[in-house]
Amino acid sequence: MSEPTLFERIAQGDIPADIVYQDDRVTAFHDIAPQAPVHILVVPNRAIATVHDAQPGDEALLGHLLLTAGAIARDLGLDTSGYRLIVNNGPDAGQEVFHLHVHILAGRALGPIVQPPG
Ligand code: AMP
Repeated sequence: MSEPTLFERIAQGDIPADIVYQDDRVTAFHDIAPQAPVHILVVPNRAIATVHDAQPGDEALLGHLLLTAGAIARDLGLDTSGYRLIVNNGPDAGQEVFHLHVHILAGRALGPIVQPPG
């Protein structure tokens, strides 16, 4: 058995986090270093490292992850002002935690999708 990831430990309650939603498949909590007034992470309770590590059997889980992100955004009233969902994969995307997660970012105009080069 490999060591549990940071986000598995949060989902299991072993590491404290400011949890906004949890069910038997996914957990959502506030990012510890928010990049916007709203910055929430939605993670599967079991580790999948990246999108390209997901298997066909994970299809329902990934759908649930995205639907949960949308439901949280709606509950926070973000459906009119808007929000951005980001899934970083690998080094060029700056992925730090190799446990698939959806960032929900909102609360201000978020600017371009990526920083211009330079
Ligand atoms: P990524 O770069 O897409 O892998 O994003 C990882 C995110 O996890 C970053 O935005 C971190 O601020 C966040 N993070 C790291 N440790 C924690 C933690 N203990 N609780 C909440 N968020 C965390």
